[in-house]
This record gives sequence, structure tokens and C-alpha cells, in this order.
Amino acid sequence: TMDYGPAPESDTDARQWLSRHAQGFGHFIDGRFTGADSGAHFETVEPATGLLLARIAQGSPADIDAAVTAARAAQPGWMAVGGHARARHLYALARTVQRHARLLAVVEALDNGKPIRETRDIDVPLVARHFYHHAGWAQLQEREFADQVPLGVIGQIVPWNFPLLMLAWKIAPALALGNTVVLKPAELTPLSALLFAELAAQAGLPAGVLNVVTGDGATGAALVAHEGVDKIAFTGSTEVGRLIREATAGSGKSLTLELGGKSPFIVFDDADIDAAVEGVVDSIWLNQGQVCCAGSRLLLQEGIAADFIERLKRRMQQLRVGMPLDKAIDLGSLIDGSQLDRVRSLVAAGVREGAQCYQPSCALPTGGSFYPPTLLTGVQPASTVATEEIFGPVLVTMTFRTPDEAVALANNTRYGLAASIWSETIGLALGIAPQLQAGVVWINATNLFDAGVGFGGYRESGYGREGGREGCHEYLKPRAWAARKPRAAQAASGATGET
Ligand code: NAD
Repeated sequence: TMDYGPAPESDTDARQWLSRHAQGFGHFIDGRFTGADSGAHFETVEPATGLLLARIAQGSPADIDAAVTAARAAQPGWMAVGGHARARHLYALARTVQRHARLLAVVEALDNGKPIRETRDIDVPLVARHFYHHAGWAQLQEREFADQVPLGVIGQIVPWNFPLLMLAWKIAPALALGNTVVLKPAELTPLSALLFAELAAQAGLPAGVLNVVTGDGATGAALVAHEGVDKIAFTGSTEVGRLIREATAGSGKSLTLELGGKSPFIVFDDADIDAAVEGVVDSIWLNQGQVCCAGSRLLLQEGIAADFIERLKRRMQQLRVGMPLDKAIDLGSLIDGSQLDRVRSLVAAGVREGAQCYQPSCALPTGGSFYPPTLLTGVQPASTVATEEIFGPVLVTMTFRTPDEAVALANNTRYGLAASIWSETIGLALGIAPQLQAGVVWINATNLFDAGVGFGGYRESGYGREGGREGCHEYLKPRAWAARKPRAAQAASGATGET
């Protein structure tokens, strides 16, 4: 039995873990790391300093094939052990995350550039919670999903903004319900997935059940194209989501897409203004605004608009931008120089289109990709900054007069991921909520992620849900479909993952 108390890890343990892998990381396939020296490599750096963190293997189609083969071989056994045994493994993963919370939080902050306060208090606890929650579903599977079977081998591709949390959202339901996984982390933030794989093996997860192949978009494309994959689950940009949708069309592979957003944050005249200002801070400056469901469009009712903006500017003056491991900072570094350039050029476009730009006079560390919290007022609804996902610490504001105008303005977007409504009249908020074209609506709250509640988008924000019962359905298919297949055909196709 393992000791599940918190490990006495400090920041130096992250550095020691990296130095143990100083020769570079291989892929994690069939329960162990492949040799670090075979094939091509790339580097992952600290966004806050630009300094090298580790050498990472660039996954080839042959690496993808090895990982899919391992996942395929492991899947019948993983399904056959049953929900109760899988639940024990998921509980062990949850406890392992808690035990190594400090190490995971530091590695994530170093590789991504986000504040340690966030990785420690938000990302890592939500990861543990996701595994606990899905351990519960594994335990209930035979009762709650009696007429369904796992899909088989799942290819999962995740972005750099919440590397470990997106890993958990992907692998926890897939594994809980008897599938096996090949995960491709983002090339900018591969470290926490590699650390997680190492910890999962230590926690006794059987070989082949979880495989991690690192690399760039080409590695992701090879995973999407592999014939041994039954489903692709993707979180990332709308552009790449479109490419994957084209690549899987007509292939028989299942697909779910979690894509971008331009979510409205609606404040009515009767809102608790102090709470709403804090809500804005959490909504757009969490993770430097690199959040798919960030409340990036602030819609203010006219009666409070001027006062609200004044209070928000005062609050912005207190925000600190600094080094990720400094516990006193509010914003860290953007992910890299190209993201910084993109944010800068979108803000410049906003100003050209007539917006006024406010940035507090906060000190920025030198080096890295730091950008101050930014507020654009006087924004036209059809302008670039009001319609494009900026994916940075930039908030745009617009005003409305009536609830109907608020709904029209909120829905005036290609996206539909999340929305936030602030009002002390609960009848008003509950009346507005169902009129919003958004997968998630928060009332007097923002960025609440509950493992038990399905998260996902409408329109160009994608389709499919992650979390809760609805998320479980994305990793199952009706049993009848397999049972109707003649036995001979089933044997001939070598079908696994079906009973
Ligand atoms: P991205 O689409 O560039 O990359 C995401 C992943 O896809 C990476 O692992 C990348 O290597 C891989 N990839 C790139 N090209 C590929 C291809 N042709 N085939 C297969 N895989 C490929 O996105 P990003 O810049 O890493 O992340 C930012 C985007 O993710 C934003 O638009 C954000 O809104 C979105 N996002 C959405 C959610 C959600 O739940 N809806 C959550 C987080 C981020």
C-alpha cells in the first residue's frame, strides 16, 4: 500500500526532477519512457525567462503507431477488470495528484508561465477532484450505463493553457469507463503530462492504459489519422478543430471538439458592483486571459457603466504582474513571444478602430512574454477586438440599455462557450440565462468548474461535453451495436473493446 500523505516537496524538487531527465524526455508508451536519444527533439522553455527547461521528443508516425498498438493491446484487459477495479485506479491517481500537488504545481507554473497561486489553488485541486469524481462513475458504470460499452482506444489532443487540467478532463472519463488512451500534450507545455505519466506508473496504473506521445501539430495529425483510434477528443483552437473535423469525416471515428470563445460578462444596474468587479478580475485575468471561457466581453447596463469602469480601473492598479513562482503576483507571463505579438497587434487594431486603451502603470519583469492587464472602452460591437478571441489579458467593454439588448449583444458572436450574468434580481438573471447561446451560464459567479457538470460549447466553440454524466456518454457506445454483429465478423475484424 502507498503512503498518500503529502510529499514534502519544494521548488527544488521540480528542478531535481528536471535534472534527472537532463538528457531529454522520451515518450511514455506501454508503461515506460522510450529512449530519449532516438529521433528528433525540440525544447520546452520557461515563458517567464526564455530559459531551457527540457528536451522533448518529437513524436513520429511510428511513435504514434507504437502508442496506439500498446493502447489497443491493453484495452480488453482494462475493460475486463470491471468498474470497481478501475475506480480503485482512479482513486489512486487522485491521491497521487494530491500527494505530489506541490511538484505538479511548480512544474506547471514553470512550463506555462502562470502564477503558482493558480496552479496550487485551482489547477491541481481541480485535477484531483476530476479523478475522484470519475472514480465514482467507474464504480457506478455497470449499474448506470448497463447497456453501453467503451469506445476502445481514444486519441486525445490538448492545448497549452491548462495542460494538466485538460489532461484530467480528457483521461479521467476515458479511463474510468474502460477505454485506453494516447494523449498528445501541447508542444509548448509537455512537462506536466510527462510527470503525471511517471506518477501514474508509480501508482500502479497498468502498462498501455495511458500513453503520452509528445510533439507538435504534425504528431497530433498522425494521431488523428491513425486507423487504430476509435475516437478523437480535441481541445484547442477553432482552426485546428476544423482541420481535425475534415480529417475524421467519413472515417467512422467519433469526435468531440472543445474550441475557442468570446464569452460575455453581463452586469445589470442592480448588481452587487464590488462582487462583479472581483468577478471581472477572475474572469479575464485568470491565467493572463488565456482561458477558453474567459469573460472577455464586458457588457454593462448604461446606468452603472461609468462608475463600474472607474472602480475597475482602480482595481486594475492593484494587480501585480510578475514571476510565476512569486506567490504575491496576480498575472504571470503569456505563453510565448508569438502570443505576445498577437495580443499587442490586436490591441493596436482596437485602438485604430477607435477604442480607448487603459493599462495600469504596473511594472513588468524584463525578459519573458509579459503583458499588462488591459481594458478597451468605446468598442464597437462589429470591431475586431469585440469579435476575435484575443486569448490574452485584454477586456473589451460595451454598454446596453435593456435586457433584450443585453441578450442580443451577448449572442452577437460566432462562439458560444460560456456567459456570466450579474444581477441582484434572481428572476431577471434566470430569465436571461436560457436566452444566451452558451454551453455554460454562471449567475453572480464566473469560471466555476465542477467535475459533475458538463462543460462544452455551442456553434464555433465546438461540440460534446466534458464532466458529469453527459461527459461519460462521450466515451461510451450502445452495447446493442456490438451485439448485433455476427460472431464470425467480430472475430475476423479482431474487434476488441466490445462484448
Ligand atoms: P491549437 O489548436 O494550436 O493546439 C492545440 C493542440 O492541437 C496542440 O496540442 C497542438 O499541437 C495540436 N495540433 C496543432 N495542429 C494540429 C493538427 N493539424 N492536427 C492535430 N493536432 C494539432 O490551440 P492552442 O493555441 O494550443 O490553444 C489555444 C486554443 O484552445 C484557444 O482557441 C482556446 O480557446 C482553446 N481552448 C478551448 C478550451 C475548451 O474547453 N473549449 C479549453 C482550453 C483552450
